[in-house]
Amino acid sequence: MKKTKIAVIGGGPAGFIAAITAAENFGNRENPQIDIFEKSVPLKTILCTGNGRCNLSNNISDFKELALNYPRGEKFLYSVFSRFGVSQTIKWFEERGLKTYVQPDNRIFPKTDKATTVREFFIKKASEYNIKIIKSNVIDVFKQKEKFIVRSEMISEEYNAVIISTGGNHKKRNNGYEFAKKLGHLATELKPALTSLITQEKWVKTLAGVSIKNACIQSFYNNKRISDIAGDFVFTHNGLAGPAVFNTSSYCAFLNYSKEKPLLLKINFTPSSSEDELKEDLLSEISNFPDKSVANTLKKYIPKSLALELLKINNINPEKKAYTLNFKEQTIFLKILCNTELKIIAHADEGEIVTAGGIELKEANSATMESKLIKNLFFCGEILDIDGLTGGFNLQMCWSTGYLAGLNAAGK
Ligand SMILES: Cc1cc2nc3c(=O)[nH]c(=O)nc-3n(C[C@H](O)[C@H](O)[C@H](O)COP(=O)(O)OP(=O)(O)OC[C@H]3O[C@@H](n4cnc5c(N)ncnc54)[C@H](O)[C@@H]3O)c2cc1C
Repeated sequence: MKKTKIAVIGGGPAGFIAAITAAENFGNRENPQIDIFEKSVPLKTILCTGNGRCNLSNNISDFKELALNYPRGEKFLYSVFSRFGVSQTIKWFEERGLKTYVQPDNRIFPKTDKATTVREFFIKKASEYNIKIIKSNVIDVFKQKEKFIVRSEMISEEYNAVIISTGGNHKKRNNGYEFAKKLGHLATELKPALTSLITQEKWVKTLAGVSIKNACIQSFYNNKRISDIAGDFVFTHNGLAGPAVFNTSSYCAFLNYSKEKPLLLKINFTPSSSEDELKEDLLSEISNFPDKSVANTLKKYIPKSLALELLKINNINPEKKAYTLNFKEQTIFLKILCNTELKIIAHADEGEIVTAGGIELKEANSATMESKLIKNLFFCGEILDIDGLTGGFNLQMCWSTGYLAGLNAAGK
């Protein structure tokens, strides 16, 4: 049977790259038709990515190393990335006219530094290939003999292949999981990931907006170390946010931490020095500037507002002169810098960047993204049980799985 009609359900990054790739690989077959069903604004999500700059990938060429950045989906992605990894993705964009650049921290952005450019690129490409964007909410997908029937609030159409790319479970409004379940697939439990975290300690409120560079956050639950993340974070009115905290939240996405049983974070504000090096540095600081207040001495290592708060909690007078610190206080001083503990009682209720969990990977073919249960049914993007850390990994997964879904839906 010729696959001449493909429905893509969900016009996000994964759906668009899938549709365009399918269009490019139809070859000379007659009457190819690709329809993207989108219930909201096409590629709306891309506009807020990377704070409006769209961090579209991360410059890691080794596919196994790349896959390490996914708390869920690592092994599945070996096969996906070995077929369409970062270099193939960037080549794909560049050859079609979207120029990119790599930041010193390896994150990749469009050369314009604007997410709108990426959106416009996809809309233009889709129109060049006569891909129809049907602005309608899909309410049902089912099989009738060899064909799929896609029913939206506007139309009901027959297709040879269907690609489900309805994204994550944001605001719990994604019925893509229901379509998949109705077609016989399993979806795992769903949890928010890359979220901000809420602390038991209320004093963080006074530090809202204070950002910390290059810290190291270890998380522990049930006395077991869960994650060890280096990076930046920021205090919020009720807890912590920022890249290192978001990544921590992903590794802890399926833990049932609560007020009664919090997640323990141990924060090292000076991870580039060992404790001994730090001690030596601190002692020389005290001997060089003995009359400095302890708050100002700490300021060398952490923001003063944080120093004041941590000294208060540890019952050290911030105005005290540095040379008067006794041995016990010096030890506390070091503990503040290397091992400040915070208890996490919850994650933020909404505003998560991605969903952890999704369509069971064992039921999808990692070489083609086709369902192992139903021929000509494909999945791509965040609907899958795959989620990445911050840094462009989530979009990279969308490009890779979307490309493979489109290629194989077109019958290549
Ligand atoms: C604030 C924010 C910033 C982010 N920044 C980055 C970043 O810089 N780099 C990065 O890699 N990742 C980033 N992400 C994550 C990234 O945006 C997602 O991983 C990605 O958008 C997922 O793409 P998708 O195509 O799978 O799903 P989505 O982008 O969610 O698209 C799915 C689409 O399907 C539509 N849809 C759903 N159900 C139906 C239906 N029944 N009928 C019709 N249409 C339907 C939805 O309206 C939606 O447009 C960010 C996310 C957020 C929230």
